[in-house]
Amino acid sequence: MGLYVLPDLTYDYGALEPAISGEILELHHAKHHAAYVKGANDTLDRLAEARDAEQFGALVGLEKSYAFNLSGHVLHSIFWQNLARDGGDRPDGELAAAIAEHFGSFDRFAGQLSSATSTVQGSGWGVLAWEPLGQRLVVEQVYDHHGNVGQCCTPLLVFDAWEHAYYLQYRNVRPDYVAKLWSLINWADVSRRFDAARAQSAIVS
Ligand code: FE
Repeated sequence: MGLYVLPDLTYDYGALEPAISGEILELHHAKHHAAYVKGANDTLDRLAEARDAEQFGALVGLEKSYAFNLSGHVLHSIFWQNLARDGGDRPDGELAAAIAEHFGSFDRFAGQLSSATSTVQGSGWGVLAWEPLGQRLVVEQVYDHHGNVGQCCTPLLVFDAWEHAYYLQYRNVRPDYVAKLWSLINWADVSRRFDAARAQSAIVS
């Protein structure tokens, strides 16, 4: 077994229906996410081989592959925990207050995150993240799994906008899929990540 391991879901593949079909969820977790885990582990092995042989001719590609696969593993691991069958509604407590402070209102935040997710060109993600230098929440539009990302930001809530996340069910209408994601958000999980990210801020700033 490699360093990185595919996490089990805490719910059945059909648990998020009708918003996300069981067929999509099974393929997404057992095939796509699993491929990123394997890719990250395989790339670490190839990097070790390159160091041992002192042969770095393929290093550029290996570094790119590692960033892609590791980031895919991280984002999907967060995504599964961000979602819940009985999710939805709105956050409360300090997370709700921070969203209001940093985005103006929940609706404005939701508008930005929905738009960021729906308008990613090609494959990517819409992400609510904690930015520790400015001590604020931000929305990022991530390309692939790791492009267009602020180095220090910690993802708290992630919306997968890759076609594999919705195409079997929503075809080309990505905004309809994004709208349904809001009904699945596990705000307790997002709040937990928000608290942990703020506790880490002193290390960065
Ligand atoms: Fe995905």
